[in-house]
Amino acid sequence: MTRTPFIAGNWKMNNTPAETRELINELLPQITPAPCRVALCVPFVNITAAAGLLKDTGILLGAQNLHMQDKGAFTGEISAPMLRDCGVACVIIGHSERRQYFAETDETVNLKAKKALEYGLVPIVCVGESLDEREKNETDKIVSSQIRAAFSGITAVQAQKITIAYEPIWAIGTGRTATAEEANRVCGLIRAEIAAIYGNDTAQNILIQYGGSMNAQNCDELMAQPEIDGGLIGGASLKAEDFARIVNFE
Ligand code: PEP
Repeated sequence: MTRTPFIAGNWKMNNTPAETRELINELLPQITPAPCRVALCVPFVNITAAAGLLKDTGILLGAQNLHMQDKGAFTGEISAPMLRDCGVACVIIGHSERRQYFAETDETVNLKAKKALEYGLVPIVCVGESLDEREKNETDKIVSSQIRAAFSGITAVQAQKITIAYEPIWAIGTGRTATAEEANRVCGLIRAEIAAIYGNDTAQNILIQYGGSMNAQNCDELMAQPEIDGGLIGGASLKAEDFARIVNFE
């Protein structure tokens, strides 16, 4: 089974629309034609600027969150139909920063993933343990239960459309990366969990990214791991040269 590698940049709360145009214009010559599946997940206000530049490049436009309802009295929120109408193809769901600072739970992650699927958006569902959980040897238990909850009520056909990002929280933005072996082991555990729910065919088709201080120096080793199908890249996605190096991993 060959899975197409998928590298997604998570810009977090960085770049104005003008800076967005600047960074994408610097990036595009270095990543097109794209050697793998590539997405840029930009802040909501930069979606229009990014959409114009990414059109017909093969690079996917992504968002970093969505609401689980179609519309209504939810001040400050953005819905799946709004994103789809703006040309968004994929959306990060349940990033640890959203879980930590904005009270997202396994339940909201599940509802948001279902809403994204309903509107044809690819959910990038994030899971991962904290440092405390890792030190207590709870990594496998936590990650398995996050996967079970995120996929609750989702069919096998839908499940294959979801990308999972394994992001150990202690490795995000810290410069501390999981070893390639350990990242591979946990991604394998996630695949086994998907196989237990849906069977081996679905598990072999699903894409599992690693995220957590992936950069131009360590991307080749991480991407060489058999269970790692891509990366969710924070800090290094803000520098054109670094992100391009990751996209062109060897
Ligand atoms: C992330 O934000 O998903 C992430 C992995 O960040 P960083 O690459 O900066 O660790």
